[in-house]
Amino acid sequence: AEVLPADATIARFGGDEFALLVPSVATAAAVVGLGEHVAEALAQPFSLGGCRIEVEASIGVALHPEHGHDVEGLVQKADTAMYLAKAAHLMVQVYDPSKDHNSRRRLALLGDLSDSISAGHVGVEFQPKLDLRTDEIDAVEALVRWNHPEHGPISPGEFIPLAERTGLIQPLTSHVLDESARQLRDWRRLGLDLTMGVNLAARSLIDLHLVQEIGEVIERWGLEPAWLQLEITESSIMTDPARARRTLGDLDAMGVGLSIDDFGTGYSSLSYLRRLPIDILKIDRSFLADVGVNSDNQAIVRTIVALAKTLRLETVAEGVETVEQYELLAGLEVDRVQGFLFGPAGPATVISR
Ligand code: C2E
Ligand code: CA
Ligand code: CA
Repeated sequence: AEVLPADATIARFGGDEFALLVPSVATAAAVVGLGEHVAEALAQPFSLGGCRIEVEASIGVALHPEHGHDVEGLVQKADTAMYLAKAAHLMVQVYDPSKDHNSRRRLALLGDLSDSISAGHVGVEFQPKLDLRTDEIDAVEALVRWNHPEHGPISPGEFIPLAERTGLIQPLTSHVLDESARQLRDWRRLGLDLTMGVNLAARSLIDLHLVQEIGEVIERWGLEPAWLQLEITESSIMTDPARARRTLGDLDAMGVGLSIDDFGTGYSSLSYLRRLPIDILKIDRSFLADVGVNSDNQAIVRTIVALAKTLRLETVAEGVETVEQYELLAGLEVDRVQGFLFGPAGPATVISR
């Protein structure tokens, strides 16, 4: 606050994003200067509970009236500029329409997403997970699929982050949860003893209705809570650890299973991890890539498995593509494996007795 003019407003957007409204700055150069001051102030290391903390901020700037007249438009432009700043490793970037290649497609896509959900163009596919002790499929992961009527399939890696930046992640998550739960009910009726993994976005973890909604889905489809495994990435937990911890606590109390996804890529502390009601660690697939020849990766996988055993957590290795990886993981006594070697995500019909 010390570096800001008196009339500036700071607002938290959620997670690690903040907005600054600065009415009194006259020129773009002055805004950049101010942005640099803010970024430098944030870059000062500080101490928290005896630990030295360093943070890095990227700032995107949109100017009124040059870049827009309404809040939504200006925030979206500032957001685009912030992404450019991040990508270019700059502290501050002013919105530049000529660098905004994505925004048209992004905006157009977002506009289509909610229509697509209601029109049935957003569906779910299921990827099997194999129990390494029995070599049987005992779990699946639900992966959302968007088949755009004009652009064809669009990957979740592209539209989930977009949906997260808008209100659309909520209807999307509801849709995936409901479809997955319905499918699980069908499989259970057929006598298949499966659990269902559903991914949750960082934004969903701070959604106050999430817990209630999951309770309703379980009711609606007559499921046992433990049949659901919610997959949450390590980094989305660390976006707002206090909030995440509460949400995870509530979900745990309800009896649903909790997995940490992409484990090993985030920055969670082990003491923090120990206090979360987690059941499963999913070892990030980047560590499996060349695990046969890369002794560093092999050591990392070994260490994660040992850690999981100490904390009494199950392990899932994802992204298993080769027999060599499979054998190595079996040797390490990983509990479950998932990957193209056993099948990609597909329609529900790929799972049968
Ligand atoms: P994830 O949760 O880590 O999901 C695993 C991703 O790895 C999937 O990509 C899957 O198709 C892919 N994959 C599976 N086996 C292999 C393999 O052997 N090799 C390689 N190279 N890849 C493999 P997908 O479906 O494109 O999903 C990407 C990410 O999008 C997911 O990563 C997840 O973070 C997110 N996502 C997917 N569905 C949902 C959803 O319903 N809700 C939310 N919030 N996020 C979702
Ligand atoms: Ca996942
Ligand atoms: Ca993952």
